[in-house]
Amino acid sequence: MRFSKLFAITSKEEPKDCVLKSHKYLIRGGFIKQIGSGIYNFLPLGKIILNKVIKIIKEEMDKSGANELSLGFVTPAELWIKSQRYDKYGKELLKFKDRKENPFVLGPTHEEAIVECVKGEVKSYKQLPLNLYQINLKFRDEIRPRFGLMRGREFLMKDAYSFHANKEDLDREFELMEATYKSIFRRLGVDFRVVEADSGAIGGSGSKEFMLLAPSGEDSIVICQKCEYAANIEIATRAFKRVDSPAPKAEFAKFHTPNVSNIKDLSEFFKVDSYYLLKCVAKKAVFASGESAKLCGTSVDSNKSADSTDSAKLGDSTDSATITNNSTHEICFFFLRGCDELSHTKALNAIPNAIDLIDLDSSELEAIGLPAGFIGAYGLRNITNAKYIFFDRELEDSADLICGANERDYHFVGVDLSKFQGLEYRDLLEVKEGDLCPKCGGTLGLTKGIEIGHIFKLGDRYSRALEASFLDKDGKAKLFEMGCYGIGVSRILPAILEQKADESGAVWGDLAPFEVDIVISNIKNEAEVEFANNLYENLKKCGIEVIIDDRDVRFGSKMADFELIGFKNAIIVGKALNNGKIELVRRKTLEKLQLDSNIPLQDLLELVRL
Ligand code: ATP
Ligand code: MG
Repeated sequence: MRFSKLFAITSKEEPKDCVLKSHKYLIRGGFIKQIGSGIYNFLPLGKIILNKVIKIIKEEMDKSGANELSLGFVTPAELWIKSQRYDKYGKELLKFKDRKENPFVLGPTHEEAIVECVKGEVKSYKQLPLNLYQINLKFRDEIRPRFGLMRGREFLMKDAYSFHANKEDLDREFELMEATYKSIFRRLGVDFRVVEADSGAIGGSGSKEFMLLAPSGEDSIVICQKCEYAANIEIATRAFKRVDSPAPKAEFAKFHTPNVSNIKDLSEFFKVDSYYLLKCVAKKAVFASGESAKLCGTSVDSNKSADSTDSAKLGDSTDSATITNNSTHEICFFFLRGCDELSHTKALNAIPNAIDLIDLDSSELEAIGLPAGFIGAYGLRNITNAKYIFFDRELEDSADLICGANERDYHFVGVDLSKFQGLEYRDLLEVKEGDLCPKCGGTLGLTKGIEIGHIFKLGDRYSRALEASFLDKDGKAKLFEMGCYGIGVSRILPAILEQKADESGAVWGDLAPFEVDIVISNIKNEAEVEFANNLYENLKKCGIEVIIDDRDVRFGSKMADFELIGFKNAIIVGKALNNGKIELVRRKTLEKLQLDSNIPLQDLLELVRL
């Protein structure tokens, strides 16, 4: 490749609105160009790297026995209605109609499409297992597309879906995919961790994320400093907390606590560790809009419609549920120890079919007779008729607690949860740095990561919804057990740069767009041009990916571009050629090596391949 012929528009200007270095370098280095919010063109240099990433993923997926196919990007809405995700997936799902008023979605993920593809074709257990993958576009109408390719609306994903006759075989494939992903990310040369994760809107059980470690990562990961335990903070657990400070032993009694309405003040007022205080967090759960019912004339979402009717009924008889714009809101309560914080994901997972949890203000609490800052466990269900009241599992049967009395300026002491009937306990708290590992008791630390891959066990969630079955050995129809396995292919580019780029520009390791950039210092110097051209031809013949910077621009600009784009090595052919010398610069370290211009080709190859 001759640089003069390459469509690479590099720029010294700081692009606007780039928070992350990866975003800045991908734009300045001429790898990508934005065409709309969260939508990017890949320019030639970006496409070269993308292709290298795709090649590695494809080789490893093929090695695992998976088959590549390509599913339509546009999916009929009907499939999403059947799977009950049309309403539930949220606003990220882009919905539209064709000229005949038929509804469609732009695939944000393809479970429905793949089940529809396999359904009826795989009839017997003898055709199983099967793992099908594609490397294809996805569209998610992200609320805040940002950081360039990191969180695009249109992006490239490798998504694989496996089909099995039973759970044991799904477990085997899940492990195979974990091993395959590890090989892929090792070959991509990134530092990553496999962490336990939430299953999110896709549903199912058993879920692991592949996190590239980078300080700018949006995800927080909990890592044990002693053992292998690693989990996304969304679902991380800890060994139950214990404290040395004495419990506030007291007979059950109501206490006047004027204006003492937060944990810190309460802890000081009673001179007790916040561990012994019962904190209540009130939220509003949001349930789906039931839009699919409008499309079908009737709801095909049996769970959802049942749930919505339930909530509506509650709304009639109590104040805890309201209906706005067809979506149902319901007030719910979560109790934790005063020293702990509520995990949004865990709280959301506690409420069946809720699609979000949102804050509510004190006036909404007052409206249902609750004084903010004084909410407690006694009589809460009677006062509010709330359907969802949960206690953190670490509180199970705890005594010697202090909690709000559901009356302004009053708290109860001597609270004993074992005396309550039918409390529902869930894992609700967010793990903190310094908590203890649930596996080995070691200390837990927090670090930041970028999610580059995610594998799930789906079970029969989708085969059931879309009625996809096969005939098992005993001749009986059975639903497919399924797994799904995603890699954020386009996100890998910025993720690598977040880990490796330096102050001068991109560093790609082995994914660099070219292995060698021959920089001709002065293209008016015939000796330099002739030497560089010969070297270029020789390296090409040896299979080296080589670009020759033959542009009529200043030497300084050529070197700045070498550093910005991140070619793996530069060979500078300049004035020193008169003295029989050329120079090799390694991009990663910017280390410079003086070489004899007549260095044997084999020796040069060894140096650039290092
Ligand atoms: P995130 O938590 O980052 O929003 P996700 O958990 O919703 O991602 P998955 O459904 O697990 O994403 O999709 C598989 C992979 O696709 C993710 O691991 C991630 O690498 C990538 N990905 C997801 N959303 C985006 C996006 N908006 N832009 C680029 N890549 C994405
Ligand atoms: Mg994910």
